[in-house]
Amino acid sequence: MMEKADEIAELMTSEMGKPLVESKGEVQYAASFIKWYAEEGKRVYGRTIPAHVDNKRMLVTKQPIGVVGAITPWNFPAAMITRKLGPALAAGCTFIVKPPNQTPLTAIMLIELCEQAGIPKGVVNLVSGNSSEIGEELLTNSHVSKITFTGSTEVGRELIKEGASQVMKMSMELGGHAPIIVMDDADVEKAVNGILASKFRNGVQTCICGNRIYVQEGIHDEFVEKFAAAASSLKVGNGLDEGINIGPIIDKAGYEKIDSHVQNAVSKGAKVVLGGYGKAENHTYFYEPTILTDVHPDMVIMHEETFGPVAPIQKVKTEEEAIEFANQTEYGLAAYVFTENYSRGIRIAERLNYGIVGWNDGVPSAAQVPFGGMKQSGIGREGGSEGLEAYLETKYISIGL
Ligand code: NAP
Repeated sequence: MMEKADEIAELMTSEMGKPLVESKGEVQYAASFIKWYAEEGKRVYGRTIPAHVDNKRMLVTKQPIGVVGAITPWNFPAAMITRKLGPALAAGCTFIVKPPNQTPLTAIMLIELCEQAGIPKGVVNLVSGNSSEIGEELLTNSHVSKITFTGSTEVGRELIKEGASQVMKMSMELGGHAPIIVMDDADVEKAVNGILASKFRNGVQTCICGNRIYVQEGIHDEFVEKFAAAASSLKVGNGLDEGINIGPIIDKAGYEKIDSHVQNAVSKGAKVVLGGYGKAENHTYFYEPTILTDVHPDMVIMHEETFGPVAPIQKVKTEEEAIEFANQTEYGLAAYVFTENYSRGIRIAERLNYGIVGWNDGVPSAAQVPFGGMKQSGIGREGGSEGLEAYLETKYISIGL
């Protein structure tokens, strides 16, 4: 992957639009899962448990779970495959991936690279085509032991229902609606830079992107002014062009959803501080970085995933109020807090009902840490030692002497 990094990145930008520099970053991130799990595979330990009687020995061993079916989304065409493939191979599983129809080419290239790297034929496989037909086969074929899915909560729910007939083992990485809390004692520069990275990465087509920002009243106006100044310098355009920060939206439906969220907020009293509009060019859809203030919880944008470069900012009075608003969602994937007060940071991080908390950090993902959501954001974790455990069965062997 690293030898072909430029080639993979160009293909990725061509098929889904993210700026080339971000595609290059994704190739590095994607490859880091293969490398990390290649090392971690050495540490699949069992254990010996002292028996309660003299004539027994008790062993616990780990075995590969079996054939894995992986269904992946378009927003990270490489990393969402390797985050599953790395640990599955390290555990000793074989792997069938069904990439999304929007980004099959990056997936095909990765599978070709597996072959070139010497992975035996049949160990890593790809099937593309009609998603519900392939999904049904993976979910009902008795040779498949596990489904690992990354995508929307709606599709995840359907797969869980379908897999119930054979009690399919499942990992689910689903949607999110990440809150960002900025307290009065935050370092404003740090908050602006962190939120810019979290908010506008991948054109905000990222599951852990901040979706709604709660800013304490004492710092609100200063934050909005500095955040808008920084966001206004972001350039929207063809991801292959030099200096582009935000590429096109994945498709027309994605674009229309963003615009409807903005229009809904404006019709209910939101003020547009920056952007607020998009444009279509040759069937390609772009949306300007947009900042809204005076938003409130009744607006669609405050509870549905927008998947676009729109930052709604709500003013809050206290820490208590910020936490309460932040937790008012069915999702629980990622949340962010900006404060320089360490007692407050720990208090807030512990009370946020989310699987991932970025404290003064807008980009918390890495291969070696557990990634995943509470509530309706998913089941299980990917990354870190938890990510390997997801592809292992635990077997207890009781030996009578
Ligand atoms: P999606 O519509 O749920 O699709 C995800 C995958 O599921 C695609 O490969 C899709 O294939 C397939 N699929 C759709 N219907 C299916 C069915 N009935 N049976 C089997 N497979 C089916 O999600 P998306 O629009 O690609 O991705 C965006 C979503 O993913 C967002 O909600 C985002 O938050 C979430 N996400 C979560 C994480 C995480 O780690 N938690 C990471 C990235 C993205 P086709 O496209 O070919 O139909």
